[in-house]
Amino acid sequence: MFKKILVANRGEIAVRIIRACREMGIETVAVYSQMDQDALHKELADEAICIGKDRSNNSYLHIQNILSAAILTGCDAIHPGFGFLSENSKFARLCDECQIKFIGPSAQVIEKMGDKSMARQMMIEAGVPVVPGSDGAIANLEHALKLAAEIEYPVIVKASAGGGGKGMRIAWAEEELASQFEMAKMEAYNAFGDDTMYMEKFIVNPKHIEIQILADEHGKILHLGERDCSMQRRNQKVLEEAPSSVLSEAERVMLGELAVKGAEHVSYQNAGTMEFLMDAKHRFYFIEMNTRIQVEHPVTEMVTGVDLIRLQIEIAYGKPLKMNQEDLRINGHAIECRINAEDPAFQFRPSPGTIEELFLPGGLGVRIDSAIYRGYKIPPTYDSMLGKLIVHAPTREEAILRMKRALGELLITGVKTNIDFQYQLINEDAFASGLYDTGFIGQLLETK
Ligand code: ADP
Ligand code: ADP
Ligand code: MG
Repeated sequence: MFKKILVANRGEIAVRIIRACREMGIETVAVYSQMDQDALHKELADEAICIGKDRSNNSYLHIQNILSAAILTGCDAIHPGFGFLSENSKFARLCDECQIKFIGPSAQVIEKMGDKSMARQMMIEAGVPVVPGSDGAIANLEHALKLAAEIEYPVIVKASAGGGGKGMRIAWAEEELASQFEMAKMEAYNAFGDDTMYMEKFIVNPKHIEIQILADEHGKILHLGERDCSMQRRNQKVLEEAPSSVLSEAERVMLGELAVKGAEHVSYQNAGTMEFLMDAKHRFYFIEMNTRIQVEHPVTEMVTGVDLIRLQIEIAYGKPLKMNQEDLRINGHAIECRINAEDPAFQFRPSPGTIEELFLPGGLGVRIDSAIYRGYKIPPTYDSMLGKLIVHAPTREEAILRMKRALGELLITGVKTNIDFQYQLINEDAFASGLYDTGFIGQLLETK
């Protein structure tokens, strides 16, 4: 097995990876920015190296510093977590060249699937249904207008390099397209340094259903069921659950097989997620593949009993997957609430500051993945996610009751959080019924 892994990330996912390594007897090296002197991941790792000042560009995105740290400390692998360099094919390639194993798919696969318009083409080739839309990128506004007329409004203009819900704009009618196209391009350029755009039909109020994939380096590809991530605000996930309460068993099998077919077509390796939208008629459309571990991976872990981070590491080392598709059973129900330092009263603006009081819930079926502690100062520089509260219970009804109980116990003071908002969400009738869609939170906030 690997002797030492560098964790190229921060926050709860860095802690999650360090924990898995410790259980596997693998040493860890944390990297941190000057802003993260007091961060938990730095304390928990066996070694820690400062890789730069505060901003991500100078630290967690600084390829040269991170690779130097790995070489200096004698690491034989790097786990990129999510965000930051996790979907950066150049980084994956450079790791290879330095003979340090990048824990994820190959640079070529990241390249193919990271360009979302190219990924669409790959899935069309594979026979996986995609949202009706453009063949490849949009050349200019004229091209966009022509395409939209063919696809029919409403349409959504999306950044090929997009992620984190950024760089996408809806046009409900022709007169809106020019301004939405320009806005999306600008946002994409600012966020990703790339304003290549593509277009899809805008599916009104769909469900977001995604399939977890695991593939070893010997050709075995498995799916680990779905997650329903339809609770979203501005195209960003807020709460996730597994399994989805709206899929029939036949749909579950069909979608899992579809996801495997897509992954096979690109010779996918390691953990990945195929994201789909489902319309009111239960038609499924591929939207993108995330070639990394995802924020909401714990709900899948809870219902399958599989440690996804451990398997990512084992797969990267070259171990074959021992389990088979028929060994994977979905057991009970899991829900995850993302806990963010943000102020729901002011458009959920980030609320950095110092954690004063902290009480984390426990008890049967409750899991906390976080990197905060009492007295911890949340820097304003990075993501506002403080951690995740995950519950697991035999049935969905019991999981909802357990989440209400756990959210009721959770206490964080010193910064504004979305805890009460999450409590409100799980108390909504639409959540209880399972019939909420990606438009739900938007409508809820509008009517308030
Ligand atoms: P998930 O699909 O795992 O739910 P999210 O979309 O919430 O992922 O993104 C996970 C993290 O990575 C977030 O902190 C998000 O801001 C960041 N992220 C995702 N994609 C990108 C990207 N292309 N560029 C920069 N950050 C990204
Ligand atoms: P990201 O890379 O930012 O995660 P995705 O392509 O996965 O972007 O889309 C994020 C979310 O945006 C989806 O879960 C969905 O809510 C919404 N969305 C994206 N494409 C469409 C579409 N064609 N129709 C309706 N909603 C969409
Ligand atoms: Mg997505």
